[in-house]
Amino acid sequence: MDELLATGVRGQRVLVRSDLNVPLARGAVADDARIEASVPTLRRLIEAGARVAVVSHLGRPKGERKPEFSLRPVAPRLAEWLGTGVSFCEECVGPRALERVGELEDGQIALLENLRFHAGETKNDPDFARALAALADVYVNDAFGTAHRAHASTVGVTEHVARVACGDLLRTELEHLQVVRDPERPLLVILGGAKVSDKLSVLEALAPHANVLAVGGAMAYTFLAARGDAVGNSLVEPDRIDDARRVVDAAKSAGCALLLPTDHVVAERVESGAPTRVVREIPDGWCGVDIGPETARAYSEEAQAARTIFCNGPMGVFEIDEFARGTETVGKGIAMSSATSVIGGGDSLAAVHRVGVADRITHLSTGGGAALEFVEGRTLPGVAALDR
Ligand code: ADP
Ligand code: MG
Repeated sequence: MDELLATGVRGQRVLVRSDLNVPLARGAVADDARIEASVPTLRRLIEAGARVAVVSHLGRPKGERKPEFSLRPVAPRLAEWLGTGVSFCEECVGPRALERVGELEDGQIALLENLRFHAGETKNDPDFARALAALADVYVNDAFGTAHRAHASTVGVTEHVARVACGDLLRTELEHLQVVRDPERPLLVILGGAKVSDKLSVLEALAPHANVLAVGGAMAYTFLAARGDAVGNSLVEPDRIDDARRVVDAAKSAGCALLLPTDHVVAERVESGAPTRVVREIPDGWCGVDIGPETARAYSEEAQAARTIFCNGPMGVFEIDEFARGTETVGKGIAMSSATSVIGGGDSLAAVHRVGVADRITHLSTGGGAALEFVEGRTLPGVAALDR
């Protein structure tokens, strides 16, 4: 962006791929975080006199125009955040979009309709990519959340626009996550969440890279089952038990300490008000819903010893208050640590805000999947396309 602005964008049509994939509830924006995050790049471009056209996806309309996935409600919210009018265009390509973008004056901004109303977007269709490129003298990618997808608006479009640049949000994300790839040690990785299968490749990549790998959430039970421990009715993925063993072996041979819960909060049912107990061994008929207090303390102490922390996935069913203690304790532990800390993942960020420690975390990543892929060491197609 610095380089781009230094060479001037006044009067230029700048197509910005943002991540405005916000949750909607009854047709209104339910959470502004992604809108807020995309504002700095847009503001700089507006102030530099660019004619800004913003594109994004929202939800999964699967290539069809579905009104419930319209970006229209985002336009007034974006306008509030920017402090300037944002016009909305119900097409993101074609004559109407061209006309709307052509009408922009220097420093004005328009939001175009959901990219995924067109099947060509996720297929990285060359014709759709060219149609997007027709709107732009300059292309800026600022959508970290979709940088791991080779779509028309993240990859294809870059082949047809002469000037391309990396937005400030995307750059900041990459810089912070690079710290996890190339960490000050010890590096502590805390992984939780629902499923081992969701995060198997990151477990495999980080087991030999981290100094300490602490596992919580439901994925811990597959590891416990792999060791032959009783797991009761906890969420286990039987066909991932061999994979879990492989992760344990990889950690061992690399000298990484792999920590599993030593105690558990178990409940008779995964619902508020169900009877609960704290146990070392999960009894038959009970279900693990959170790491126990001893485990939470141990993970939190690891956070004090670490110089770099990467955390993804809550430690328990934190949406239910009685099962949120483990996530809370570990979250506070990360916040108290002087280590550089990076937390990513949709539910993880919700948990951080719930615990109220957001301002004590070095970096909150806006893109769960993209952050995991980057930390694994993979090249993000959307980023590689900018380096071309
Ligand atoms: P993120 O969105 O941060 O990447 P995930 O989507 O992987 O995290 O996992 C979050 C989900 O995992 C939450 O809905 C939470 O309730 C669930 N979860 C965590 N621990 C357990 C558990 N012990 N049993 C069942 N679900 C769990
Ligand atoms: Mg999630």
